Amino acid sequence: MAAGKLLIFSAPSGAGKSTLVKALMQHLPSLQFSVSATNRPPREGEVNGVHYWFLSTEAFLQKVKEGAFIEWEEVYPGRYYGTLKEKVSALLEAGTHLVFDIDVVGGLNLKRMYEARAQAIFVMPPSIEALEQRLRSRGTDSEDDIKNRVKKAQLEMESAGQFDVIILNDHLDSAIEKTLATVKQYLDA
Ligand code: 5GP
Repeated sequence: MAAGKLLIFSAPSGAGKSTLVKALMQHLPSLQFSVSATNRPPREGEVNGVHYWFLSTEAFLQKVKEGAFIEWEEVYPGRYYGTLKEKVSALLEAGTHLVFDIDVVGGLNLKRMYEARAQAIFVMPPSIEALEQRLRSRGTDSEDDIKNRVKKAQLEMESAGQFDVIILNDHLDSAIEKTLATVKQYLDA
């Protein structure tokens, strides 16, 4: 059986990446979401093992020491996120296509590791202002978090050209359509 492929979605926080990923997975139910580990506390409605594996900082750093991650990043000060080797390799070997929602540095690292077996997709917000507005209206992040995320977004947008595909998320419906077309074409190739 052919090994599974990786669909890597990266974007500045607030670009609408999670909404696109959710829509993609509803349209193509054979895809599986790669559940990352993090030491950040769960947001309301987030479930351990579904959205993330929620770990204490000690447990996360212990896993780093053990070499349990394919990649991990301190995405925001004191906030760690990583992709667990054990979860990913078994699924890929079984032929499952995996969807990653991961930061820009992590996304490019995974693309480098898996090359043609991975499609790296950058979700571009229409503007920094629109992104800041989305972060505020989401109502899940503190003012400090929002400031950090906006600052980081400006740097991340400079890396867009290193991705295989850029999806501009100015209108959700057309962004979903473009994402579906791109992914289907890649999986059929
Ligand atoms: P949030 O706290 O909003 O869920 O996620 C913050 C950022 O961390 C997002 O850009 C998300 O894509 C990224 N992220 C989630 N999981 C991983 C991971 O396993 N590795 C890396 N490098 N980034 C991740």
